Amino acid sequence: MGLRLIFLGPQGSGKGTQASRLARLMGVPHISTGEMLRQAVADGTELGKKADAIMQAGDLVLDDLVVAMVGERLSQNDAACGYILDGFPRNVAQAKALDEVLETPLDGLVQLDVPHEELMKRMLLRAEQEGRADDTEEGISRRLAIYWEETAPLSDYYRETDRQVFAVDGLGGIDEVFSRVALALAVE
Ligand code: AMP
Repeated sequence: MGLRLIFLGPQGSGKGTQASRLARLMGVPHISTGEMLRQAVADGTELGKKADAIMQAGDLVLDDLVVAMVGERLSQNDAACGYILDGFPRNVAQAKALDEVLETPLDGLVQLDVPHEELMKRMLLRAEQEGRADDTEEGISRRLAIYWEETAPLSDYYRETDRQVFAVDGLGGIDEVFSRVALALAVE
């Protein structure tokens, strides 16, 4: 299995945790667009100023801005031999833009499956614990709706374009889910 992977899953599916662990195991960078954008907002960069209100509303930041940010990140040395992308692409337009900028094609996609009710429960708990600005009940529902409408269809896009899609059951403890991810990718 190659090292150029996308991690797909709704907010609250545990994809950030699993993606970061897999990246550590494989020795490649974990690239989270949500984290990069939150950092840009905290640093008050031009990108951060444009993204701030959009993120708080739970909407998607403009494709062009995110694609440019990811393109720049992937051109850095540490991503030369692989990476785990988390939170990007978020829709088919971003997936196509990514295919255009990549010199070495993607190896595949890991998709974490978690039922809607469980996601709401986990997200509300996280809101209490972390106090992220976009973790209001309204923001959470909005982001989940966008996920089902725009992001979930990505697995079909990647299947149709002959990339490997590994669907993994995301219910259970962190270790249990990670074992499934590793088994699916055969990287243990
Ligand atoms: P996340 O941490 O992945 O849940 O992302 C937090 C927020 O950052 C999202 O609700 C969006 O507003 C924004 N964001 C992150 N990744 C993307 C992306 N690929 N395209 C557009 N907006 C994004």
